[in-house]
Amino acid sequence: MLYKYAMLLLLNILLMTGCNTAPPTPLSPPGEPLALAEAAPVVEQETAIPPEPLKKVYLTFDDGPNSYYTGQILDILNDYGIKASFAVLGVNIDKNPDVLQRIVDEGHGIINHSYSHDYNRVYKSPEAFLEELESCNESIAGITGRGVKIFRAPGGPSKLNKETFKLLKQHGYVSISWNVASADTDPKGVSREQIIENVQKGIMQIESFEKTPIVLMHDGTEINRNGAAPGSALANYIRSRESGVAALPEIIEFLMDRNYTFAVVDENTPPAW
Ligand SMILES: [Zn+2]
Repeated sequence: MLYKYAMLLLLNILLMTGCNTAPPTPLSPPGEPLALAEAAPVVEQETAIPPEPLKKVYLTFDDGPNSYYTGQILDILNDYGIKASFAVLGVNIDKNPDVLQRIVDEGHGIINHSYSHDYNRVYKSPEAFLEELESCNESIAGITGRGVKIFRAPGGPSKLNKETFKLLKQHGYVSISWNVASADTDPKGVSREQIIENVQKGIMQIESFEKTPIVLMHDGTEINRNGAAPGSALANYIRSRESGVAALPEIIEFLMDRNYTFAVVDENTPPAW
């Protein structure tokens, strides 16, 4: 990068002393004083500012499609004219096919997040994991016509062993992780302010590592929102989902202020770490 800037500076110096020098003043007719006003105008040289490289951020929402929260998130993304990616579960696609259809219609990305998200099933064996991805892809393909090869392991890639990675690679699957955690699945429930703070701190930290931020949030699995006892796991889960939706505009504005472009996850997405 330094080399590039040095070259730009050198180019700028050459331009100032070369092509951009003022043309010679035309000779004044005999007997007339030198027409100073006719001297070539001084061309102001603009300082060469190196173009800022495109800064991408990936917003990702896991565990949906959810009949209640995903739509609210899509509305906010639409308000800002930006795209995100949704790591979806087959079990929730089967419950909410129309929500996945809307995600796709509005140009957002899809990540395969397994069929059930049930650790006992997903992590039973490498073959079981593959089967979970294939089942989720059947649900995705039922809506979009084709499955996706980008997957996010439930609970994160650290749960995958070498044999599983090898098997998935053989089948063309590509893992996508994250490097900015909103921590919006805290079992105690989390506030809007805490989610904003977690993401902002995470973004600034990942910038110091010069990595492309991939932000993990949750639109959440399908739940029955009625009758959650105060303080129960379900009530905390609902509070966290509502906090996440409420936090999203401020998170988007924070990223916009830092000149980020909102990209959709695909095969070219750089690894989180
Ligand atoms: Zn998940």
